[in-house]
Amino acid sequence: MSDCLFCNIVDGEIPGDIVYDSDSVLAFNDINPEAPHHVLIIPKKHIPTLNDISNSDRDVVGELHLVAKQIAAERGISGSGYRTVFNCNSDAGQAVFHIHLHLLGGRKMSWPPG
Ligand code: 5GP
Ligand code: ZN
Repeated sequence: MSDCLFCNIVDGEIPGDIVYDSDSVLAFNDINPEAPHHVLIIPKKHIPTLNDISNSDRDVVGELHLVAKQIAAERGISGSGYRTVFNCNSDAGQAVFHIHLHLLGGRKMSWPPG
């Protein structure tokens, strides 16, 4: 999708601060971090929202979480804790319509989220 920001990062047309790269998944630091660690983990395939995942996406959706776990371990926040979030559509504040798993950590977070 040429008009999708995250597809453009996958294609290298827009630079990203890449922290993980596999055949199917890319992870990069959020440009406007909300925590000391804020990484976006995305499928390379364009999927607009979580509503659009299907059975054929189960491997890549699983990989997103395995990558979150791996990055948290690499950054030493597995024990202190972290949060993973998918925002879906307007009530959740989704701004980029290519699914992305937020990995947030390095500070105490409140619950419930705003
Ligand atoms: P959403 O609100 O859609 O769940 O999250 C979108 C995220 O993408 C936000 O945290 C925002 O800071 C991040 N973001 C927006 N544009 C860019 C960009 O060009 N590069 C990177 N690395 N992150 C971006
Ligand atoms: Zn896309």
